[in-house]
Amino acid sequence: MTQDNAIKVFISHRESICDECGENLGTKAWITLREDKGALCLSCADLDHLVFLPAGDTALTRRAKKLSTLSAVVLEWSRARKRYERQGLLVEEEALQAAEAACLQLVFRTSRTGFTMVR
Ligand SMILES: [Zn+2]
Repeated sequence: MTQDNAIKVFISHRESICDECGENLGTKAWITLREDKGALCLSCADLDHLVFLPAGDTALTRRAKKLSTLSAVVLEWSRARKRYERQGLLVEEEALQAAEAACLQLVFRTSRTGFTMVR
């Protein structure tokens, strides 16, 4: 699977209505676009069980993405830069927990071998 066919979730700044269930999602809605269906809310897109992992922790993000069978990139339009900017990732909760545990172990192992902990 390449980066291009990853599921993308957009944080909309306009009033949005889901094309499938017709629900008014208001402004700041999280929607995903499907070629054949239009704009969908996360529950119609079957993504509402995923949890949001904000961008920033690269190691955690990479690990969670690898462990999650389903993940989506979250993008928000930046008015200042006039382009979509990556806000983070939607991943399965178990994958995030497993990734966090793995990262904690890494920190622990690192600290045992004499390095100081970052946090
Ligand atoms: Zn919907």
